[in-house]
Amino acid sequence: MSNNNTHSATTADLPSSGGVRGRLLIFAAPSGAGKSTLVQYVMSHGLNTHFSISTTTRAPRGTEQHGKEYYFVTTDQFNEHIRRGDFVEYEEVYTGRMYGTLRSEVESRLDAGQNVVFDVDVNGGMNIKRLYGDQALSIFIMPPSIDELRRRLIGRATDAPEVIDQRIERAEYEISQADRFDRIVVNDGLEQAKQEILKIVTDFLCA
Ligand code: ADP
Ligand code: 5GP
Repeated sequence: MSNNNTHSATTADLPSSGGVRGRLLIFAAPSGAGKSTLVQYVMSHGLNTHFSISTTTRAPRGTEQHGKEYYFVTTDQFNEHIRRGDFVEYEEVYTGRMYGTLRSEVESRLDAGQNVVFDVDVNGGMNIKRLYGDQALSIFIMPPSIDELRRRLIGRATDAPEVIDQRIERAEYEISQADRFDRIVVNDGLEQAKQEILKIVTDFLCA
């Protein structure tokens, strides 16, 4: 796990732009907190959003497809992206499993006026926020408790028991970073969390 060893570009690497740029919506949460569920909900509201498809070295899960949920690559391919400077940020979120945000998923979309949505870990979220400042809104989705997080991961039935243990261990670190986000939304009752998050996002995009 790389809690402190994070990797991101600098603002000097980012092109400037004359037109009205889109904004960045960054969602981070411990795995199982309900981030995908809430991100999908926000994205179904015609807010001119584009999902930033991350690149990862982990294997596809369930019905996941290359180019839809993630770009699934080998470690060599991932390292080649690092070498070429293709990533805005990347992390070893779990031991031996790399995740990264490609510059190509972000800049052209922002320039075209689209709002780019990120589903990233806390370190990636903080790095993107640091790079983009007020253009970005960072939201931490908090589970009601660690016990409930474990129940949701078991209920989702997509991970082996040892992977669930890894995710829970990581969750404790991630929760300790929540205060560094612009907003925290507790996902206890799903309907309430959906409405709260939609209001936060629409207020930000309309400001
Ligand atoms: P993440 O993307 O954060 O890993 P998911 O969106 O996949 O999490 O949610 C994990 C599981 O918990 C899914 O089975 C989802 O349907 C369920 N879930 C999400 N939000 C809630 C909630 N508020 N109450 C109960 N179950 C939830
Ligand atoms: P999962 O394996 O459950 O899809 O994702 C594991 C964790 O990696 C989640 O917290 C997810 O948000 C995060 N993640 C996905 N893509 C990226 C990325 O591009 N960068 C970073 N830093 N984290 C990512």
